[in-house]
Amino acid sequence: MYALVTGGSRGIGRAVALRLAKQGYNILINYQSNNAAAEETLALIREAGSDGELLKFDVSNREETTAALEKWQAEHPEDYIEVLVNNAGIRRDNLLIWMEPEDFQSVISTNLFSFYNVTRPLLQPMIRHKYGRIINMASLSGEKGLPGQCNYSAAKGGLIAATKALAQEVGRKNITVNAVAPGFVKTDMVEGLDEAELKKQIPLNRFAEADEIAAVVAFLASKDASYITGECIGINGGLYT
Ligand code: NAP
Repeated sequence: MYALVTGGSRGIGRAVALRLAKQGYNILINYQSNNAAAEETLALIREAGSDGELLKFDVSNREETTAALEKWQAEHPEDYIEVLVNNAGIRRDNLLIWMEPEDFQSVISTNLFSFYNVTRPLLQPMIRHKYGRIINMASLSGEKGLPGQCNYSAAKGGLIAATKALAQEVGRKNITVNAVAPGFVKTDMVEGLDEAELKKQIPLNRFAEADEIAAVVAFLASKDASYITGECIGINGGLYT
């Protein structure tokens, strides 16, 4: 059984990879550049008694993504990727009035176009096997809209809408498609944010641990979540109620 976690080398993706490994999945760890972090995730997966492999490609690049996924499929003709976690993402915050076009473009490409690039090639095998789980990493920013994040809010809001649309397309094939929308999570991505100040707005009065997001993703990926599709589950400590 194979699960692909994009951006699986660090942060939330690593925590998801470890959870899914413990659920018996062989993990394909996608990442873009941080070889050392990806190797470390693989070592942790092996320590947990499972196995995996590194799949380095840029999710925002369609040709590169398609080539990597086709190569993997050709090398594993009997297998298919039954769980896909579209997690890779970046942020490039700025007020819109100051935002450079490349910051808008790169955030849309990495957080939203990636959904198309990675998901499309994996749908046919899921349909053929009449089973699949797709979980998209959205954000509170995509539900609420956050100032300084027009690019990121647009990408994550689009991802939530695509989740709902695809869920309706493939439900009959026994494929579920869901999203999770974290608030603030302690990873490299929130470096530089003032946690002491921001947590005052959060009813649970703290940022989340990556594993608290991974727990929900792992549930959505499990057989227990068989009747949940087209949902976006907020994991935000009460920040958006
Ligand atoms: P992170 O610690 O910065 O890790 C990002 C991961 O994505 C890394 O594995 C990175 O690979 C990978 N990645 C980035 N661009 C990529 C690309 N073009 N192709 C392939 N992989 C790429 O981020 P995180 O906080 O874990 O965030 C994970 C997801 O959760 C993102 O979608 C983010 O938007 C979302 N999220 C995060 C928070 C938060 O507070 N942290 C809140 C809401 C939503 P390398 O290691 O090679 O760089």
